[in-house]
Amino acid sequence: MRIVRYLKDGKESYGVLEDGVIYRVSSPLSQKRTGESFLSGEAKLFAPSAPTKIVCVGLNYSDHAAEMGLPLPPEPVIFIKPSTCALRPGGVIVYPDMSRQVDYEAELAVVIGRKAKDIKESEAGHYILGYTCLNDVTARDLQRKDGQWTRAKSFDTFAPFGPWIETELDTASIKVEAYLNGKRKQRSTTDRMIFKVPELLSFISRVMTLNPGDVVSTGTPPGIGPMKKGDDIEVRIEGIGSLVNTVG
Ligand code: MG
Repeated sequence: MRIVRYLKDGKESYGVLEDGVIYRVSSPLSQKRTGESFLSGEAKLFAPSAPTKIVCVGLNYSDHAAEMGLPLPPEPVIFIKPSTCALRPGGVIVYPDMSRQVDYEAELAVVIGRKAKDIKESEAGHYILGYTCLNDVTARDLQRKDGQWTRAKSFDTFAPFGPWIETELDTASIKVEAYLNGKRKQRSTTDRMIFKVPELLSFISRVMTLNPGDVVSTGTPPGIGPMKKGDDIEVRIEGIGSLVNTVG
């Protein structure tokens, strides 16, 4: 099932998308239909959840670690992008004046359905609403310069995600790809992930409470690279779909 968040007639709502029709639901978790439906073209899609935080995982693909010449981390390396980074599908990634190198990072993201604190790996599925595409946009020059990641990762619009939340997905081995102006730049499969989704959620929930709508982004495969103003950038994930944004 595909869950969308949208604006229609000045009102923000959640819906289920089926064959080009959006069926409004009372909540993304219950997916209880209200009886209202319309063609998807009549609404403007937002990012599919309203997170209180976006938790990202650095260096979580073995092939990306090899590309960077870095050893595999013994435990997940996590950082936060503020909720003000969220950007809708089709929205414009704003190139900051402070940076000379803004990179794309295609990532599989998990959207949390239920409040999660100190959860076990074996129960992680209970807390997952579904999965979506995320671009962990990064000002690479500032990441190097600052020696820590907050500024580089936190500019407004630096976390486009969507276009919807896919609730039924086996994430064991699916393709994660990035296309810059239609040319493939990243491709790997999730079986190369060092820490899998249940392990990540358990680990993060032992640090901080994950709230409904929060997003956990699981790291990027090899092939990251820069974008320029005017570029189109697409994150494509097998079984979910395609998130397309422009840079401006
Ligand atoms: Mg990343």
